[in-house]
Amino acid sequence: MINRRLDKLGRIVIPQEMRTKLHITHNTLIDIELKGDKIILSKSGESCALCGIVGDLVEGTPVCSKCAREIADKLGK
Ligand SMILES: [Zn+2]
Repeated sequence: MINRRLDKLGRIVIPQEMRTKLHITHNTLIDIELKGDKIILSKSGESCALCGIVGDLVEGTPVCSKCAREIADKLGK
């Protein structure tokens, strides 16, 4: 367990190692649920590891079709 103190606006930073492990990037959509007296944060559906868009993932990869196309273009394929 890691403790983080909220800032004046009620924000916290999700620890980098947790974001990395779950492929959470700056654009990833996060669900925030209140369950009893707990606040649960989770990735909203399957989001692209690069741009964070939900859905439209290329099967067997963590990226969306748009990012997959951009990668393929950069690799010249
Ligand atoms: Zn993407």
